[in-house]
Amino acid sequence: MKIYVEEDENAIRLLGDNSEYFPISVTLQIDLKGTKLESPLEDYYVLQPNSSGTLLATIPKPSDRSWSYRFAYNYSMGNALAVHDDQYAYQLPFPKGQSYRLTQGYNGRSTHQGLNALDFTMPEGDTITAAREGIVVRIKEDSNRGCPSSNCANDGNYVTILHSDGTMADYVHLQMNGVLVELGDTIEKGQVIALNGATGWASGAHLHFVVYSTGNHAQKSIQVRFETAPGRIEFLEENTTYSAFQ
Ligand SMILES: [Zn+2]
Repeated sequence: MKIYVEEDENAIRLLGDNSEYFPISVTLQIDLKGTKLESPLEDYYVLQPNSSGTLLATIPKPSDRSWSYRFAYNYSMGNALAVHDDQYAYQLPFPKGQSYRLTQGYNGRSTHQGLNALDFTMPEGDTITAAREGIVVRIKEDSNRGCPSSNCANDGNYVTILHSDGTMADYVHLQMNGVLVELGDTIEKGQVIALNGATGWASGAHLHFVVYSTGNHAQKSIQVRFETAPGRIEFLEENTTYSAFQ
């Protein structure tokens, strides 16, 4: 990610490049003296994946008086303008015929306080499938370390999938080399994407699944509904075993 300046005799332009597979949201702070922006400052500027030269702001250079500018920015992964499609029915993230217990639900007391994430207890090496179609935008699979404390928080392997509404899903705690898709792959709902593990902040093998958008430069996790039986679409309940029918 890069924010930079281009200048000609009439104006200063702030531009952005994003070489990642995921969108990036940028906020700008601009201090001006003797000039003003060509158009009002937006709350967020979204740099689309693999894009360059996105125009963020134009600062005219007056010829008849002295002027100056200063700017700073913050950025975060994801599209801050994304709105989750709450009508979407997610699929259980494991193959047809498999059953696993949801041992921690949304806002769970163990490690999900204030977090809309789900933990399925699942043996190491078991198959994980995509709960929703999308594009693979982030992968980590080089870790072999896990422990039941925040010391291991950065050691979890994961796959991140970007959905068509701009939200993303993380599938976390994967086995070392347990990612079975490549960056940039378009994947279908139900497609095999990874093998489960216990890397990162984990007291045992489980899949941590979270859907989120980005707001105010922090992840905003989202409660989503799953199709748990044909035509039955619901929020999952903690300490319940679910069987994939599709
Ligand atoms: Zn979790």
